[in-house]
Amino acid sequence: MFEVVIGLEVHTQLNTNTKLFCSCPTSFNHTQNTNTCPTCLALPGALPVLNKEVLHKSIMFGTAVDATINRDSYFDRKSYFYPDSPSSYQITQLYTPVVEHGSLEIDLEDGSKKTIRINRAHIEADAGKNIHEGDISKVDLNRAGTPLLEIVSEPDMRSSDEVILYLKKLHSIVRYLDISDANMQEGSFRVDVNVSIRPKGDEKLYTRVEIKNINSFKFIEKAIEVEVARQIDAWEDGTYEEEIAQETRLFDQVKQETRSMRGKEEAADYRYFPEPDLLKAVVSDEMFEKYSKIPELPDEKRARFVSEYNMSEYNAGVLTASLEWAKYFETMMAEGASAKNAITWLTVELQGRLSGGITPETSPISAQTLATIVKAIDDKTISGKAAKDVLDYRMENEMEIDAIIEKLGLKQVSDTGAIETMVDEIMAANMDKVEQYRGGKEKLLGFFVGQVMKASKGSANPQVVNEIVTKKLA
Ligand code: ADP
Ligand code: MG
Ligand code: ZN
Repeated sequence: MFEVVIGLEVHTQLNTNTKLFCSCPTSFNHTQNTNTCPTCLALPGALPVLNKEVLHKSIMFGTAVDATINRDSYFDRKSYFYPDSPSSYQITQLYTPVVEHGSLEIDLEDGSKKTIRINRAHIEADAGKNIHEGDISKVDLNRAGTPLLEIVSEPDMRSSDEVILYLKKLHSIVRYLDISDANMQEGSFRVDVNVSIRPKGDEKLYTRVEIKNINSFKFIEKAIEVEVARQIDAWEDGTYEEEIAQETRLFDQVKQETRSMRGKEEAADYRYFPEPDLLKAVVSDEMFEKYSKIPELPDEKRARFVSEYNMSEYNAGVLTASLEWAKYFETMMAEGASAKNAITWLTVELQGRLSGGITPETSPISAQTLATIVKAIDDKTISGKAAKDVLDYRMENEMEIDAIIEKLGLKQVSDTGAIETMVDEIMAANMDKVEQYRGGKEKLLGFFVGQVMKASKGSANPQVVNEIVTKKLA
C-alpha cells in the first residue's frame, strides 16, 4: 500500500496598483510593452525600490495563516535566463522571507479538521509573457516586475481531495483579504504541485516530481491522479529508480499524462546571492499594527453564519466559500429579509436558476431585489409558490418586484373581511357538507379551504383561510 505525499507552491499575484520595484501600473491588458520603464526592462543603471503596498499585503496574509512576520526580510537574486525575463535573474526571498511558519486548517469530508503547515510565503517579481504566433515568438513585458507572493506548503497533503480543500481555503483567504484577484484562468493564482509516493508507514520522503502551472482545480485533480499512477506503476514494475527522477513535468490535458519538461535544477544552479541593489524590507511596529488587523476570514464568517442565522454548516460553508456570495447574503440581511427565507431563496431558488460561473456581479438579480422578494414572502404579501413565478419573471424582465406582483395578480389576500365573505358564501352553497362536518366528518375542512382558495384564484393566504374556516365551521 502506498501513501501519496503532496506539497504545493502557489504564486498569487498581489493586486497592488503599481509593480514591485517601479511605479509602472500592474494592469496588463494594455498595448504590449507599454507598462514598462527602465527598471522593469532591466536597463543598466536603473535601480529597484520596494513598493510598500507589497509588504502590507504580505503582513495581512501572514496574519491570516498565523505565521511569523519577519520584521526584517531580505531579497535575493536567483539567476536564470528566459526570454521573458530581461534581467536574466529574478528578485526573490530565499534565506529570510517576509512570512514563515504558518498553517491553515482544512475541513475533511468526515467532519474532522486537518492542519496543513505553511513553510513560508515570500515576495518575488513575476516575469513577462512569451506570445507564440505561428513561427515567431514575441515577448510582452507588461507583466514583468508584477509582485507575487509565493506560498509554500509543507508536504502535508495525502490526497488530491486534501489538495483541493487546501487550495480552495487559500483562495478564499486571499480573496477575503483582498490582496489578490486570484483568478486562475488569468494566471493570478498559479499552482505548482509536488508529488511523491511512499510505502504506507514509511516516514522518509521519496523523490518528488513538480507539475507546473495547472490552471484549474479539475486539472490539478487529474494531474495528481495520473502522476501518482505513473509512480506506483514504476514502483510495482521495479523501474522506480530509473523512471522517477526529481524533475519538472507538464500536465497534458488532451493526452491525460504528465511529460518531462526539464530536469529539476538544484539550488546551486541558480547561483542565489543577496540582492545588492535593495535594502532589507523592514516591517515597522506601526506598519505591523495597522496591517495585522485583518477583516473577518472565511472560517470565522462561516461560524458566525451558523450561530447568528441558524444556518446549517453546509449552507454556511457554501455561502462563505465565496466572499461575493457571502456579501450578497449579508446585504439581504441588511435589507431586512428573514434569514430563514433568505437562505432558501439564495441557495436553492436563485443559485438553482443560475448556471455555473455566474457571480453576484453578473447575476440578473441583485441582493436588494432578492431581498424584496423574500420580504414579500415574509410579510405574506405573496405565497412561496407565487414568489417562484415572480423570480422567474424578474430573471427575464427588468421590472420592480411590486409591479411584477401586481401584473401577475399574485398578491395574497390576507384581509380577513374579504376572506370571511368568501367563506360565508361557500358555506351557504354547501350547507349539507357543513352539517356533515358538524356531525363529525372533520376531513371536510380541506374541502372548504380548497373551495375558498379556488374562489380567490389562489390569492388568499392559506393560513388565514384555514383559521377562518375552522372558526366558522365550529
Ligand atoms: P524547491 O525550493 O527546491 O522547489 P522545497 O524544499 O522548497 O524545494 O519544496 C518545494 C515544495 O515541494 C514544497 O511545497 C514542499 O512541501 C514540497 N515537497 C518537498 N519534498 C517533497 C516530497 N518528497 N513529496 C512531495 N512534496 C514535496
Ligand atoms: Mg520551488
Ligand atoms: Zn516599470
